[in-house]
Amino acid sequence: MEPGIIKTEPNREEIFNQSESIVIKVGSSLIVEDELGAIRKEWFASFIEDVIDLRKQGKTVIIVSSGAINLGRKILNLKNNDLTLEQEQAAASVGQIELSKEYQEHFKFKGFICSQILITLDDFTNRRRYLNCKSTLKTLLKLGVIPIVNENDTVATDEIRYGDNDRLAAQVASICDSDLLILLSDIDGLYSESPKKSKNAVHIPMIAEITDEIEVMAEGPENNFSHGGMKTKIEAAKVTTSIGCNLIIANGQKRNPINNIYKSKATWFLASQSVRAARKKWILNMKSLGEIIIDFRAEKALKSGNSLLPVGATKCIGQFSRGDVVTIKGHDGQIIAKGLASFNHTETEKILGLKSDDIARVLGYNRKAELIHRDNMAFFN
Ligand code: GLU
Repeated sequence: MEPGIIKTEPNREEIFNQSESIVIKVGSSLIVEDELGAIRKEWFASFIEDVIDLRKQGKTVIIVSSGAINLGRKILNLKNNDLTLEQEQAAASVGQIELSKEYQEHFKFKGFICSQILITLDDFTNRRRYLNCKSTLKTLLKLGVIPIVNENDTVATDEIRYGDNDRLAAQVASICDSDLLILLSDIDGLYSESPKKSKNAVHIPMIAEITDEIEVMAEGPENNFSHGGMKTKIEAAKVTTSIGCNLIIANGQKRNPINNIYKSKATWFLASQSVRAARKKWILNMKSLGEIIIDFRAEKALKSGNSLLPVGATKCIGQFSRGDVVTIKGHDGQIIAKGLASFNHTETEKILGLKSDDIARVLGYNRKAELIHRDNMAFFN
């Protein structure tokens, strides 16, 4: 048995039921009919039913949906297999509106609101855009919306393009602190070797650690037959499992792919730690760019699980931007915690000691009241 593959499996149902924030990536082949280039209506309706079931269970759901290029290609009658980048972009532009319309009609009919977010790789590398993207997604989820994400194919050139939605979905799961990412496609998950070439090929149902051996398996040509291929799926699993998010690669071709997730052929990748623990570790390991000194009452409030409010902060040192890691120190200079700043250093200085109601008046605009939200804080033991 290869290292990383586990024999005694944890309970899948438990893993699934405990997941509160789920990202589902849907491959193009599930949404679009191969020959006709039309939406697979019955499958699509059943998928929407499954998502609504998850929402009714109180889970938040983000859908990362492919299909724009294939839908647009059909509408524009672009028959050649290898489209130029420009043709793909044109097809995506036509197909995306069609795809969104389909999602919107289905969700609206069932009384749910969905939204469209088109993202490029650039949006995750540019800090300000990354933070904006994160807060928009979180706000949408809080409002009960089901965001539908795709790559902004019409503007993404080769150098700044994901090209596959597997890694994009992993980034979305990571910025939303999701605990489960499901990659639905026409792939069964991972095999030890090509099942077409070898009778000895074994399907791998669960993986606890992505070892070199697992990566080699994913590189085999037979494991690389879909759009993103197995390689990009493993890349996605590497991202998510390291930040506490489990990942399932499932063959979702049959109807109700989520409700049937335990029955479908799939590989489950288990996260090495919980989202909370991974986030805490990440914050503590990040370089601190400033300090916020707090008073005794704020220290008590923080230790009982509250966010840091300006009213409890007495001093701010260093130059930092929104989203940077800063150190929180007590009035006696003792280091208490580290956290992600909600305001930059100039704003922080202006609002030190203020009550929440006064912040908008002093800054001239309305923003969240916390200097550091409790979810963005990690304490030193
Ligand atoms: N963004 C592409 C589309 O909507 C799909 C990329 C992928 O299949 O992973 O057609």
